[in-house]
Parts: sequence; C-alpha cells; structure tokens
Amino acid sequence: MIIFFSDLDKTLIYSYKHDIGNKKVLVELYEGREISYVTEKSANMMKKLFGTKKIAKENDIFFVPTTTRTVQQYNRIKLPIEQQSYALTCNGGVLLVDGKEDKKWYKESLDMIQYASDEMKKGIEYLEKDTNRTLEVRNIKDLFVFTKSSKPDTTIKELKKILDNEKVDVFSNGVKVYIVPSKLTKGNAVKRFTEKIKKQVTSVTIFSAGDSKFDIPMLEEADVAVAPKELEKELCEKNIGIKPDKYKVFSEYVLDVLNELTK
Ligand SMILES: [Mg+2]
Repeated sequence: MIIFFSDLDKTLIYSYKHDIGNKKVLVELYEGREISYVTEKSANMMKKLFGTKKIAKENDIFFVPTTTRTVQQYNRIKLPIEQQSYALTCNGGVLLVDGKEDKKWYKESLDMIQYASDEMKKGIEYLEKDTNRTLEVRNIKDLFVFTKSSKPDTTIKELKKILDNEKVDVFSNGVKVYIVPSKLTKGNAVKRFTEKIKKQVTSVTIFSAGDSKFDIPMLEEADVAVAPKELEKELCEKNIGIKPDKYKVFSEYVLDVLNELTK
C-alpha cells in the first residue's frame, strides 16, 4: 500500500494569487470569494488515482491530506474527489476521521507537546505586546500559535532570542508568523499515523509531497518524497525528488510520481 501524505497549499492546490493557467477547477470558496484551485490536469489525475474509495483501493493508494491549516480552514476545501477517510490538520495535531476529530489522537498530541507549554506562553506574551503585529494572536487549539507581522523578520528574531529554540520552532511564511512546539511536526504525524495503520496492512510505502519548511520533516520521514526547487537547499535528506523544469506546476509533478509508483 502507498500512503500518500500530501501538503495542500502550493502542493496540490493554489490560491488565486498563483498563475496556474486558465484550465483550473475551483476547490475553495470563502465568504463568497474564490480562494483556491487545482489545475484541470491535477483534478483528472486525482480522479484517476484516488477519485473514489473504490478506485483508491484498486490502486492501493491511501491519500492523507496533511496540512498546517486549522480544521475550519481545511473544511473549506472541496477537492474534486470523494471525501477521504483521514486528514491530518493543525500541522498533524488533529486527525480527522470521516470529517470528525479523533479525540484520542488530539489528547496524545497535547501530551506530546506538554514539555513546550511554558515556552509557548512566553511567546504569546511577547506577541501580544509586539507593535509590529497586524492580526490578533491566534492560539490554535493549544497546539501552536499564529499571527501576522508587518516586520516578520524582526518579530522572528526577537522570538528566537527569548525562547528556548530546542523546545519551540519559530517560522515565518510571508507575513505569517508561527510558534510551533518542536515535536509538533508533520514528520511526527506521519510516524504516528503509519504506526496506527501498519497493524492492519503488511507492507507500506510512504510517499510525501510538500513545498514549505513545515513539510521538511514529513519529506524526510518518507520512503519517496518530492519538493519544488525552492526547498532544495533546506533539505538534509538528498534523496528527495526535485520538480524538473518541464513541469510548470508542482502538483502535476507530484501526481505523476504517484502514478509511476502505482505501476
Ligand atoms: Mg504548502
């Protein structure tokens, strides 16, 4: 069985800000506005590979969307395929099973990051007073913290100075600023999820795809992984497929590699 752990934003789906050509399918609406799309080619590939549970079973593919999005943000996405049985949201802290939060998984996530709670509190206190902050400080289910800054580099530098960088990771993604317990990674989520599934199946190949720093632990945990060129210099594991230039859109490379794996 191939377990396909895939990031969503800029890996399978693209916001209206990205040019992915005219042949695209809407996958996310928010307050009446069109937010994200998949390319038509990706939509067709998804349908062919895991469009319904029956097709996915025939191809021996188990697709697990793995995202830093919150549950609400994830639920806005309607891929052009049947709903998947599982999804990992909140950077792996929350597992959805047929759309419902798995309480046991969430409790285990909170236990796993307990060691970082003092640092998280310290980080929140700093952000509350940060004059560069442009959004409220959002505590995502006591898992991680998110806000926006007009000077993300300055905010990050200050946070790194006051926080124990062994216990928490501080990231920026554009103007977005995150404080995340160092163990709350997509890589740990992949490990935990695979342990759970392994009891039911004999052989598992883990295939991961992602485009940002959040995805690196997941890519490095996989048997086969792919990333876009921008991430190449940050990867320690050198065995990760980098998108060749002939593909304009990363998602189409991801799905082609998955297609090859099923052969
Ligand atoms: Mg992404």
